[in-house]
Amino acid sequence: MPVRATKRGDERTPLTGDYDVLICGASFAGLAVARELAGATRPDSSPARVLMIDRYEIGERQTSACGIPTAWLEALDLMGSHRQTFSELVVNTPYGTSRWPLPWTFSTFDYRELCALLAAQGDAEFETAKVNGRTGNTVHTDRGDLTAPLIVDGLGWRRVLAADGGYQPPDAPLSRGLEVHPDGSSDDLAIWIDRSIVPAGYGWNFPAGNELRIGVGSFDPYFHVKDNTVKLAEDLGSEAVRYQGNWIPHKLRRATEGDIFFAGDSAGHCLPLTAEGIRTAFYFGVACGRELRHVVAGEQTREQALQTYAAFNDSHEWKYRWMLRTQRIVPRLWPPLLNRIVGSMERRRFVEWSFAHYFRIASPDLVHAAPPPQRRAQVPASAAA
Ligand SMILES: Cc1cc2nc3c(=O)[nH]c(=O)nc-3n(C[C@H](O)[C@H](O)[C@H](O)COP(=O)(O)OP(=O)(O)OC[C@H]3O[C@@H](n4cnc5c(N)ncnc54)[C@H](O)[C@@H]3O)c2cc1C
Repeated sequence: MPVRATKRGDERTPLTGDYDVLICGASFAGLAVARELAGATRPDSSPARVLMIDRYEIGERQTSACGIPTAWLEALDLMGSHRQTFSELVVNTPYGTSRWPLPWTFSTFDYRELCALLAAQGDAEFETAKVNGRTGNTVHTDRGDLTAPLIVDGLGWRRVLAADGGYQPPDAPLSRGLEVHPDGSSDDLAIWIDRSIVPAGYGWNFPAGNELRIGVGSFDPYFHVKDNTVKLAEDLGSEAVRYQGNWIPHKLRRATEGDIFFAGDSAGHCLPLTAEGIRTAFYFGVACGRELRHVVAGEQTREQALQTYAAFNDSHEWKYRWMLRTQRIVPRLWPPLLNRIVGSMERRRFVEWSFAHYFRIASPDLVHAAPPPQRRAQVPASAAA
């Protein structure tokens, strides 16, 4: 069980101040933004003041099954948190089991270790504080008000810093996910597409060394997944212990609103159909952090960064639309036909083609991509941000 380390009582001292960048949320998206801002300097070469806040200590609250294409762990130098690697996906339907040979490997990792490794690559200050809302460029927290010209919402699906107050489940494009983490081991990365487990969605077992992460995700936010998560764990001979669950956005949203940058689940960056949201949080977090770095350095204005980042987000819209379309179609397919499609995916060429496309939606090549050419200094440094 994670040890609760968040400041409480007398330790919860007032927290106020002005920063160059304020990153709200210190999970996958927030940490990726902070990484890109490491060593950022202002136009006078002084170090940028970057503050990252989260209601919990970094890595304290695991938010997922922590499965990701291995190439992303390698690109971000996070293999120190690696637990297990898989070269095939085992797909169970009521009619049988298929083994899809993946063209790239998938790995599980330890959340706490990954967050610590990623945080160490940045140099942002960190404080625990609960974000309650925002007025203009002031973020209100339970410890006081913080201001910054550049503010990132990496707070997850609630999109806390949105002007409209974010989503209210279940009446929102959100899926429901719940999993248990019993001790145990397996060589198979497995999913279940079976309407007796969940009418629209899938069940999973992601082994991670000596732990299994067994869960059920429902695309229908009204379908409760607890009983079937427990049943799946029991069917696999495991105990339903150490629960963790959350809402999972399945619709892309605007990546900027007013002066605020959104990355990860707050922008709906989690992929529909598969509910893969870690690598996309990294991907858009890296893209966002790079834009902010240019603003801090006085190489572009905040407005230019907002525009560039929003356009980058929007250029992915059609891919998200197709994934969402597939998410809606799959639960409606006649089960024997679905089973035939699942079986056909065992053919190497088909699985290679489809998974290569899927992988490219958020490729780790972005991490190594040459930084964009230095922006022209279109504005006096004083006007930047
Ligand atoms: C059961 C389940 C299993 C999943 N498994 C996988 C998987 O294996 N692979 C995958 O790619 N995706 C998976 N996902 C999806 C993935 O977890 C998310 O897409 C991903 O966590 C998004 O990252 P993020 O940084 O945007 O948001 P989050 O990880 O949700 O982080 C938000 C951060 O903001 C903080 N925060 C929230 N509100 C406040 C506030 N008011 N004040 C201060 N801090 C706040 C939180 O403490 C947290 O640290 C899973 C989701 C669920 C629910």
